[in-house]
Amino acid sequence: MRNPDLCTEKIFAMNNFIRLLLTGLIGALLILSPACKTPQHEPVDPSTPAAALSRLVAGNQRFVHGKSRHPHQNHRRILETEGHQHPFAVVVTCSDSRVSPEIIFDEGLGDLFVIRTAGNLMSDLELGSIEYAVEHLGASLVVVIGHTECGAVKAFLEGGKTCGHITEIVKTLAEEQEELDILRYEGKNLQACIEGNILHGLTQIKNDAPVLTEQIEHGKLSVIPMLYDVHTGEVKLLQERELREKHHANH
Ligand SMILES: [Zn+2]
Repeated sequence: MRNPDLCTEKIFAMNNFIRLLLTGLIGALLILSPACKTPQHEPVDPSTPAAALSRLVAGNQRFVHGKSRHPHQNHRRILETEGHQHPFAVVVTCSDSRVSPEIIFDEGLGDLFVIRTAGNLMSDLELGSIEYAVEHLGASLVVVIGHTECGAVKAFLEGGKTCGHITEIVKTLAEEQEELDILRYEGKNLQACIEGNILHGLTQIKNDAPVLTEQIEHGKLSVIPMLYDVHTGEVKLLQERELREKHHANH
């Protein structure tokens, strides 16, 4: 027959073991949980070009996969930004209603400084806006985003009759050196012309805005080309050098 005291001791020992095991497991989970959550979180410091780019890419991936978090779109954010703004990126893109930066990058109030015109065309006013966002608001990244099925580039290629100020849009595209080169070497290729137009935007930012050139040379600012696909919602990161070689646009 078993000794009842020994049984009780065994039960106590077992309980202590289970308690220690659970404590250890909970401790391990608490230690590991911040690391597990890291990919879900926004980069801590989006004030560097690389971190800003990584944040945009992560936001677009959430959007594409139906996991948008819609950050910074509440009353609390209104209060946080009522006296100041510190957007981490400048987005230059088309006015096309399908290319909405805060939606496709899953961002909110105060995150992006957005410049939109039909065909993402830029004049001195747009360049001035970029300079303001970089110099005065501290943005460390400028992305120039063209998009598939761009109506402005299509209008330029189709060459039909336009009226009013729309004529200026088509005329501006037709005068871009990149578009002239593409027509010469590749013919009326829509995708090529969309990419050529993005390249022209990069050329303008780098050649016509000395303030920005200085920031780029000091590594404080990056200017990146991107292409938004209206069929998938995905933003593709383009490589400027490859694009220039592909389209004979090394100028
Ligand atoms: Zn467009």
